[in-house]
Amino acid sequence: MAELAPSGAGPAERPFPPGDYPVVVVGSGPGGLQVSYTLRRLGIDHAVISADPGPGGMFRRWPFFQRLLSWTKPYALVERTSRAYERYDWNSLVADEPEHRALQVGLMDGTSEFPSRPEMEANLAAFAGATGIRVRYDCRWEATRREPGPDGDRFVLTTSDGEYGTRVAVFAVGVAEPWRPSTPGMDLVAHYADTRAAASYANRRIFIVGKQNSGFELASGLLHWASRIILASPSPAKLSVNTKSLVGVRARYVQPVEDHNLGGGVSILDASIESIERLGAGFRVRLRRSDTSGELVFEVDEVIAATGFVTPLLDLPDIGVATFGQSRLPAQTPWWESATVPGVFFAGTIGQGAAGLRKHGIPANSGAVHGARYNARLLAERIAATRFGRTIEREPIADGDVLPFCLDELQRSPELWHQRAYLASVVTVSPDDGIRPGGLVPLSTFLDDGGPDGVALTIESDGTGAIYPAIYLRRDNVVEEHLLPPNPLLDFRTSEHRQQLAAILERLGPR
Ligand SMILES: Cc1cc2nc3c(=O)[nH]c(=O)nc-3n(C[C@H](O)[C@H](O)[C@H](O)COP(=O)(O)OP(=O)(O)OC[C@H]3O[C@@H](n4cnc5c(N)ncnc54)[C@H](O)[C@@H]3O)c2cc1C
Repeated sequence: MAELAPSGAGPAERPFPPGDYPVVVVGSGPGGLQVSYTLRRLGIDHAVISADPGPGGMFRRWPFFQRLLSWTKPYALVERTSRAYERYDWNSLVADEPEHRALQVGLMDGTSEFPSRPEMEANLAAFAGATGIRVRYDCRWEATRREPGPDGDRFVLTTSDGEYGTRVAVFAVGVAEPWRPSTPGMDLVAHYADTRAAASYANRRIFIVGKQNSGFELASGLLHWASRIILASPSPAKLSVNTKSLVGVRARYVQPVEDHNLGGGVSILDASIESIERLGAGFRVRLRRSDTSGELVFEVDEVIAATGFVTPLLDLPDIGVATFGQSRLPAQTPWWESATVPGVFFAGTIGQGAAGLRKHGIPANSGAVHGARYNARLLAERIAATRFGRTIEREPIADGDVLPFCLDELQRSPELWHQRAYLASVVTVSPDDGIRPGGLVPLSTFLDDGGPDGVALTIESDGTGAIYPAIYLRRDNVVEEHLLPPNPLLDFRTSEHRQQLAAILERLGPR
């Protein structure tokens, strides 16, 4: 396993004293680190503060059973230092310099394609160190003021170290604060966040509330220890192997399903929890079955609420930031800016609040690192362009190169593969400007905002297992959707794809 000596500012350094900064980023998880990296590359001065004592965010403590559900495959048919390799490495942050790419690979011990939690934490620390990301650690944001001015709002973040003023605040504070429903008795029981060492559950009857990844992670990890495990929630558990998407419980955690099906001491129930009460040293749990409405009562030793997490927005709602849903995610524009308070942006897993099109009901991967890292990069570019006038110049493409360029984007762009039907690679055509790559954008902005003629290239999937390119052609601000065929080997450079894409590009007219 390679040792990566951090070369940037270590946690001991305390940069960014309180004061005014062009941009303030809060958080040192993958979201905050990726935004800071890109802002620096774009030359945007900014401060990063974090309540943590070092980099890594949530991965400093979770997943509880110490292994991720996002893979990194050290061996793939493409170069490890290439962008195309990012398709196989969900956990490294993304860099322009080849030497800062795929850092996770060098920190894995070979026992699993899923890094352990400490390996992930080391990966994020290595990225921060190697790329020189600076963070003021142990600095907690505690309150926020919004001060209107002639040129827009200024925000003042009160922290444990003093006040930070800025016109652009980026909150990458995660979605990892424990949440429980108001069911009677739910306040008596442990949350996922309170789970104890596995051995302390030896020979215990365990009731887990919730049938999503966190509930199944605990059930999988406790299979060896528990005398009985019951998982319950009103709706049937979805499994990713059935949805053929990241919706549902990941394959890593489905062992309890087999134990349930084979009668191995695990019960997976569709039932709502009506109440939980103390019973001696344990609990009595009353449920209502979803199918028959019949009552079920269990006496158990332990109850764990794997009922989800919320985002710690503190007083942002009080300054006008609208939120929605159980996780209290902020309502966001497609560029991850608060829909109600311009100048407040969100990075990292909070970006899942900008849902995109959800074609075929399949959400973006913004909740996990392999999707959020690209959102963070685009967010930093957007801030640079719209707030600091730093746009990225892109060289024109010769007419004869457009088809190979598009085919290559579809085959090799990790952004399109990880953020299907969500991020798009754009090529525009105009009489004044010629043919130019427009870079990556949220697909919905290409469809909704209008602009020069062009195409948006995306990869999509529809829940049947098929993965295929989708091309959106915009002419005179009218958009047509064209789907290219799937390919069992995921090769989109066949003569069939080439011909169909050429015919679509032809519809852009004389270039
Ligand atoms: C149990 C669980 C398991 C998961 N497993 C995976 C996985 O295997 N793979 C994957 O890709 N994703 C996983 N996720 C999703 C995961 O949370 C994100 O991918 C990733 O951690 C998000 O990074 P982030 O930077 O947005 O937030 P976080 O990693 O949560 O970081 C938030 C940062 O904000 C800081 N912060 C928060 N509040 C304040 C404040 N008031 N003042 C200052 N700083 C503050 C924190 O200190 C921290 O540095 C999991 C989520 C959960 C809940």
